Amino acid sequence: MFNSFSEIAVPTTQIDLSLFNIDNYQLLIKREDLIHPFVSGNKFRKLKYNLQAAQEQGHKTLLTFGGAFSNHIAAVAVAGKKVGFKTIGVIRGEELKGKIDANPTLSLAKKCGMQLHFISREDYKNRAAEEFIKSLQNQFGAFYLLPEGGTNNLAVIGCEEIINEPANSAQYICTAVGTGGTMAGLVKASNENQFVLGFSALKGTFQTSEILKYTSKSNFKITDDYCFGGYGKIDLELIRFINEFKEKTEIPLDPIYTGKMMYGIMDLLKRRQFTENSCIFAVHTGGLQGIAGMNQKLKKKNLPLIE
Ligand SMILES: *Cc1c(COP(=O)(O)O)cnc(C)c1O
Repeated sequence: MFNSFSEIAVPTTQIDLSLFNIDNYQLLIKREDLIHPFVSGNKFRKLKYNLQAAQEQGHKTLLTFGGAFSNHIAAVAVAGKKVGFKTIGVIRGEELKGKIDANPTLSLAKKCGMQLHFISREDYKNRAAEEFIKSLQNQFGAFYLLPEGGTNNLAVIGCEEIINEPANSAQYICTAVGTGGTMAGLVKASNENQFVLGFSALKGTFQTSEILKYTSKSNFKITDDYCFGGYGKIDLELIRFINEFKEKTEIPLDPIYTGKMMYGIMDLLKRRQFTENSCIFAVHTGGLQGIAGMNQKLKKKNLPLIE
């Protein structure tokens, strides 16, 4: 069952910062990416208690939303198959309907038996509206609803479990931020001497208000200084950084989330923006399944690939 995942002890690695000409700091990386190639990192944490609840409520089907390269869609498809749920993915963009096999995330989802339902970008904006959910129920029957990105109360509780003993010695806890659900869990699990720093994968820091729905703590901040122009956007410098980081540390990073976070952490370390001699606990939230899709785009543009 899904519980078998949680028996995996996720290692925390200390990075040799001298490889990056940085001294006087400690950097720990929690390797949540190692949980599973597709149900990885925070997506596993977010699904854990939701799948349990769906089972307890007698549901047979999971329905969720996502874009064409969504780590959440991949995780729901693979986890659903493993646990024995039927899965339905409502995908943004009707134009993708005929292109499933050319897209690594969607073809994986299809292979796992996920029923893919493509809707226009216009309709997708209504994804949280009650009326729209009702129309999906009329079409597909009863389902357990997982919101886009998987963030809800149970997801945040699951993400609190990312913080474990090695984090105790850290003054900073860092994560990549999409909807803010993962960061909400980290803030809740942090202690008052710790500061949680979120690196937004998209323009803006609107996730702050999402986080405040789950906690009244204020020991956190989100920056979009390292979003590289927006969601899914990358440039040569980021590609080079991701490849260099892997070469030096043997840790792969994804281009949408963890690559941007780590670029940001390294930049802040070099500019000595963290308290001197402090320890930084960075969460590798996974997402490595997104590399294949990004490399397809890079290849078309004749740019270097992520190795
Ligand atoms: C989805 C995702 C995030 C963002 O998580 P939120 O809880 O939505 O903020 C961060 N990193 C990776 C690798 C992800 O797949």
